[in-house]
Amino acid sequence: SEENEMKRIRNALENIDSENVNQFKDLPLSRNTLYGLRDSEYVKPTEVQRESLCLSLRGLDVLGAAKTGSGKTLAFIIPILETLYLKKWVRADGVGALVITPTRELAYQIFETLRKVGRHHDFSAGLIIGGKDLHFEKHRMDSCNIIICTPGRLLQHMDENPLFSCDNLQILVLDEADRCLDMGFEQTMNSIIENLPLNRQTLLFSATQTKSVRDLARLSLKDPMYVSVHEHA
Ligand code: ADP
Ligand code: MG
Repeated sequence: SEENEMKRIRNALENIDSENVNQFKDLPLSRNTLYGLRDSEYVKPTEVQRESLCLSLRGLDVLGAAKTGSGKTLAFIIPILETLYLKKWVRADGVGALVITPTRELAYQIFETLRKVGRHHDFSAGLIIGGKDLHFEKHRMDSCNIIICTPGRLLQHMDENPLFSCDNLQILVLDEADRCLDMGFEQTMNSIIENLPLNRQTLLFSATQTKSVRDLARLSLKDPMYVSVHEHA
C-alpha cells in the first residue's frame, strides 16, 4: 500500500549512504519517481546527484557547486517530487515548491524535465516567466503545486497578485544562483526570500562560488550541507 511504501521510504532515508548508491533504484524513492526516471532513461545518478540527493532527500538544506552539464536539474526535481509525495500534497494544498532560475530558456528546460520525470505523480506545475499574459498566469498560479519561475516575474506576482500565496511552501530551489546574481537579480532575490515562510527546505545550486553566492546562501539556507563536485583528470 501507499502507507507502507511511505514508511519504508522514511526508514530507509535515515540510513542512506552515498557509497551504496550506484543506480537511482538504490535510493529510497517512491515508485512514481522511479518509474518517471526509468521512462526518461535515467539509470545512474551523476556525482552531484548522488552526493546531494543523499542529503536533500533527508530534508537538509544543500549548497551544491557543480559545473554546467553535471546534472543539477534532477538534483532538485527529485527532492521536490519526493517531499510533496511524502507530505501527501494535493492540488488544494497550493504552492509547495518553488524553483527560481535566471532565464526563460532554463525555466522551460526544467519544466520539461519535471513533466517527464514527474509524469506518474499527480502534482500540477506552472511556468511563471513573463512574456505571457500576467492575467492568465494569475489565474493559473493558485492551482500550481510546483512553480518554475524567473526572479523578476515572480516578484511581480508577489507584489501585484493578491491570489498568489506561498504560505505553504515546503521547498525552495535557487538554480544557477551565480548567474541570477550576475544578471543583477540580487535585490530581487533578497526581496523574494524575505517574502517566503522560514520553515522550509532550501537547495541552492551554482556553478561557481563567489562572495555574492555566499551572501545569498547565508540569507537563504539554514545549516547547509556543502556538496562540491570537481572534475576528475
Ligand atoms: P546542469 O543543470 O548541471 O547544467 P542538467 O541538469 O541540465 O545539468 O543536465 C545536463 C544533461 O545531462 C541533460 O541533457 C540531462 O538530460 C543529462 N543528465 C542529467 N542527469 C543524468 C543522468 N543521471 N543520466 C544521464 N543523463 C543525465
Ligand atoms: Mg542547470
